[in-house]
Amino acid sequence: MSEYRIGSGWDSHVFVAGRPLWLGGQRLEHPSGLAGHSDGDVLLHAICDALLGAIAAGDIGSHFSSSDPRWRDAASSQFVRHALGLTQQAGWSIVNLDANLILDHPRLEPIRAQLRGSVAALLDIAEERVSLKAKTPEGLATADAAIAQVTILLQRIAIPSVID
Ligand code: MG
Repeated sequence: MSEYRIGSGWDSHVFVAGRPLWLGGQRLEHPSGLAGHSDGDVLLHAICDALLGAIAAGDIGSHFSSSDPRWRDAASSQFVRHALGLTQQAGWSIVNLDANLILDHPRLEPIRAQLRGSVAALLDIAEERVSLKAKTPEGLATADAAIAQVTILLQRIAIPSVID
């Protein structure tokens, strides 16, 4: 019988003018970007936390402190690769990922395929295992922010290579 673990991640960043917009590991053409110590990629941060959560390995801040100058303007893809490496070392593989993006702009539909492909490639899984959904923040007064919520399911594929 297979063993499974589930992880959830959540993050929010505020839009600021004059900063590049990074989402799902992609740089997008947009008048504003997401503030943050790193590149501000809210979706990758939530993915990272979902992976770390599934293996009970802390959160993104405990691995990559926002006060550490090494991570200033860092590509968030490296955070995801680190978290993915930890899950693989612990003997898990990703079954699927389901994400909600709560943001007023940009619209997801024109960029959904691009972002799905990017996330799938980063996680080394098929695109059909990656779901990206978007909601506008009705009644939340968060039009100046991007929020990401991610659920990831892991399946045991091997005995852990590191005893914890
Ligand atoms: Mg963040």
